[in-house]
Amino acid sequence: MSENRSNDPRHERAGDPDGARGGDHGGNLSRRSLLQAGGIGVAGLAAASAMAVADAQTVLPAQTDVQVSPPVKTASLPGPNPIDLGKVEGNKVSFTSLQDASEGESSPPSALLPPDRRVGFAIVGLGHLAVQQILPGFGSSRKAKPVALVSGRADKARVIASQYGIKPEAVYDYESFDRIAQNPDVKVVYIVLPNAMHKEFVIRAAKAGKHVLCEKPMATSSSDCREMIDACDKAGVKLMIAYRCQYEPHHRYLMDSVRKKDFGEMRLVRAVNGQDVGAIDQWRLRKALSGGGSLPDVGIYCLNAARYITGEEPVEVFAQISTPPNDPRFKEVEESVSFQLRFPSGVLAELSCSYGVHRAQTLEVHTAEAHYLMEHAFPYKGQRLQISHKIGKSDADVVPNIEQQDQFALEMDHFATCVMENRVPRTPGEEGLQDQMLVEAIYQSARTGQAVKLKPVSGTDVTRGPMPENGAG
Ligand code: NAD
Repeated sequence: MSENRSNDPRHERAGDPDGARGGDHGGNLSRRSLLQAGGIGVAGLAAASAMAVADAQTVLPAQTDVQVSPPVKTASLPGPNPIDLGKVEGNKVSFTSLQDASEGESSPPSALLPPDRRVGFAIVGLGHLAVQQILPGFGSSRKAKPVALVSGRADKARVIASQYGIKPEAVYDYESFDRIAQNPDVKVVYIVLPNAMHKEFVIRAAKAGKHVLCEKPMATSSSDCREMIDACDKAGVKLMIAYRCQYEPHHRYLMDSVRKKDFGEMRLVRAVNGQDVGAIDQWRLRKALSGGGSLPDVGIYCLNAARYITGEEPVEVFAQISTPPNDPRFKEVEESVSFQLRFPSGVLAELSCSYGVHRAQTLEVHTAEAHYLMEHAFPYKGQRLQISHKIGKSDADVVPNIEQQDQFALEMDHFATCVMENRVPRTPGEEGLQDQMLVEAIYQSARTGQAVKLKPVSGTDVTRGPMPENGAG
């Protein structure tokens, strides 16, 4: 599925590899020195072990006088030994399963890039998502490494930089951010700021000559989205919107099965994404920073899911909004939205989101012969897919055995691949623009009480790049 599509309006840009990271270790290396030598995580651990082995085999020649020759290595490790299991192919090490085939497949072999070949990421904004999900996600990444931070708080940035082995000189604030242009370690800038700030920092990152990964929602207006796409085009850099669910294995399984018509034609999509929003002073409740309430923040997961499951673009939208008049949290933004989409194939989607309900995150697809139910569909982990389908004159409930994987590592690895191999991301800027245009149509429908008709779009996946390989490569 990898391809360079120079004629594609989503553009292709030259990219270049790079990178480092690692994990905990044994031996004499301190965690800090290991991180600085090679980063965090498994790659660093492997590097540390290799160094320890190499040290153990280094024998100094017998000392004669003052002149000391360079160290001489003894024979290398022995060749294949039946006790020391594992098969090495290229940069992958794999093992045969310890269980019978009937127990299911073992995990796919890992293929970690060595630290110096990983793609370096700068993280802009050290808030909840960046600190609690994205930075830890590098620990599961195979191709990306954190090399720079951008924050308004020196104390916080300093602590986090030391935890991840990021050089002090690679910590910027929002004013000095543009100096990142002179940092060759940074290939990708990942924007994790309040929604209304995405545009400014995407454009500044593009001008600095860096590829850009931007959190959802892409921006707070479709005109801003267009400016961001144009700026990246003009600068010759790639732009990807961080729609993590499109890289998550349960979502990919569901999409694949429905599109292959495993159980007949698709008819209905239903999804709900809601939570009880907390602190009243957060930017999410201020329209100038968020662009809206539950719809652009959590409703966008339902909207995006209906689009990537069908692959189609809706031709009609109808929406209603409900906001309690006396709840001080909702002075500027909406609480709950219910919206329906009609797709060209006839599929109907019934979607809803709220900032005033106990956590609910469910995705369902109804086909002629099956009901797909994904519980915990939109959180960072815990997805569970059940398929209830016709079998003769009866019914069967199946829970496919799908491995949980770190969604942030998957999406970052996909973008790293796109940068290294000059590919179009699966979720480029056009994917974020399309959602934003639909968000605007949903608000218009709720405001006017009328359905909003949309220009039909022919073809499928027209706002997306090629599907990543398994493991979101
Ligand atoms: P947050 O409030 O925890 O962090 C925002 C960061 O921006 C903080 O470091 C804050 O200091 C900084 N900032 C700079 N200027 C600011 C200003 N004027 N006002 C407020 N903060 C300012 O937010 P978050 O939850 O980390 O969300 C950041 C982005 O990530 C948003 O676009 C959000 O939609 C997105 N997000 C995505 C997911 C996902 O699963 N993909 C989950 C949560 C959030």
